[in-house]
Amino acid sequence: MADYQRMRDHMVEVHIKRRGIRDEHVLNAMRTVPREHFVAEGMAEFAYEDTPLSIEEGQTISQPFIVAAMIEAAEVRPGDRVLEVGAGSGYAAAVIGQIAERVYAIERHEALAASARQRVTDLGYDNIEVITGDGTRGLLEHAPFDAILVAAGGPAVPQALKEQLAVGGRLLIPVGKEFSQILCKVIRRTEAEYEESNLGAVIFVPLIGEQRWSEDGRCAA
Ligand code: SAM
Repeated sequence: MADYQRMRDHMVEVHIKRRGIRDEHVLNAMRTVPREHFVAEGMAEFAYEDTPLSIEEGQTISQPFIVAAMIEAAEVRPGDRVLEVGAGSGYAAAVIGQIAERVYAIERHEALAASARQRVTDLGYDNIEVITGDGTRGLLEHAPFDAILVAAGGPAVPQALKEQLAVGGRLLIPVGKEFSQILCKVIRRTEAEYEESNLGAVIFVPLIGEQRWSEDGRCAA
């Protein structure tokens, strides 16, 4: 039988730590969450390769390194209330839930949301709520958030997400074209002031939602 704990530790050492992730909260969380439970049936043997894998509805479970890099960049800390847009399999929400106090994870595909909800329940993660809906509008009833992580790429930063950040809150979102984006970090410095920075090139599946974005919208930096 496969030794998943050994595979997990190896993944963290080789694909996460050696590539520069230093945040011990993130490293410990990734040593703990059983990714083999979040991949599609028959794919468990590939769960600890550093690659995205197909899940239902033509979507993907993100590459472990990018999950780690986004959570580290979002500076998720114990006590934080976090919104994840694009719950997919529920894996990233589970990793965030190992660190934060409360995670709200939104997924637009009902079938994916239902499977993710079932997984986090079965694994006993009682601080994670998976909600079906359009995450471009955020989740006003549970705002403000200390961190918002968007796992799909849009043409611009949705205004609703910026407004739902707590002062001092961090928003990570891939911004750009359909198959190439930059990872944009937005920090809410005061009620009215935001600081944006460009963390480098990424490729995510498209963020599809109702909030109107400008086609040529770009991260400021
Ligand atoms: N975080 C996921 C995981 O750990 O498995 C991977 C997410 S996958 C790369 C991106 C997800 O974003 C897809 O499941 C897609 O359906 C979802 N998505 C795209 N636009 C969305 C929106 N407006 N609201 C909520 N989910 C959305």
